[in-house]
Amino acid sequence: MSPPLRVAAELPSDGLKVEGGTLRAARALGFGAIASRELPLLLVPGDAWGFLGSSAAPESFAELARRLGDATRLAAYAAFLGMTEEKQETFRNLGVPAGSGVPEASQKAVAAFLRDFPEYTEALDWHLFKQVVSIVSERGTQLPSGQRVVYGRSDLAKHSCSPNAVTEVLGEDGLREVRVIGFKGISENEEVTVSYVPEELLLQPTTARSRGIRELRQGYLCRCTRCKLDGSDVPELAAVGEKLRHDLAMEDLNGRLQLLQRLDVSLPLAMASKARVRFKLAQVAEKSMPQEAIQLYQLALDETDIVLGQKGLRNASNIKRRLGQLLEQM
Ligand SMILES: [Zn+2]
Repeated sequence: MSPPLRVAAELPSDGLKVEGGTLRAARALGFGAIASRELPLLLVPGDAWGFLGSSAAPESFAELARRLGDATRLAAYAAFLGMTEEKQETFRNLGVPAGSGVPEASQKAVAAFLRDFPEYTEALDWHLFKQVVSIVSERGTQLPSGQRVVYGRSDLAKHSCSPNAVTEVLGEDGLREVRVIGFKGISENEEVTVSYVPEELLLQPTTARSRGIRELRQGYLCRCTRCKLDGSDVPELAAVGEKLRHDLAMEDLNGRLQLLQRLDVSLPLAMASKARVRFKLAQVAEKSMPQEAIQLYQLALDETDIVLGQKGLRNASNIKRRLGQLLEQM
């Protein structure tokens, strides 16, 4: 299985829906389609102390933050209190993923604080506070500007080691785009998944991958379909990954293309690392197999665009230049 050519650019109309706490496709979405664009539901200013000292936060919070020795959590809570009731309810309904250890840790931290400073027991609704900071901690992302954001829908996407979607923040206002990276697209009502960990980890066999995810995600135990089903194809996948990294000077171009194809079968999704390999293989293939090279360049271009979006503009222009030169020579 090779990656398909991407579908014609669709308008980013609402391709996602939430049902029973699960993010699903509202309609069939093709490979490369923009599933949705979404502004943050909760936005916590990057300068937490400044925010707590401003009129936007309850007056007592700055002092309480000094007692707690931490401004970020109270800033998140203050930002939550500033939302409309409807948005607050949407936010609380996000909850935290099953198996998360964060609520227990928050519970312990708050209990310890109130043991030391019982005079603050009535200072705020501590139950709600724990709930809010747990959600921000589990679901939130930090933007390059330092703001912490939580999205009402795309942050519900569960992790998968074979995800079908990717997210990218497009602008300073935190507008986030969700794009389809699964070669088969996403069928209507199918669950939308993303990866919470770097791509390199997804190329690892199950044992190493699980260990890596646990280390990166506070002990998170992945129970995605791939982790549950894995077994026979694991050594092959690892071997393909190794070969792709270390054997690029190898003469056997056809062998490499087959390895890449096997990787595309095991992991049928666009990846930035695959695009890089396709680009390198295309350069090797230019002389002996120009048609294959053209196809590889085109796939690498689509794949870069779909996975990296704005972050991949420079890579994409490199690929375009090589492709243009090759087409000129022919
Ligand atoms: Zn998994």
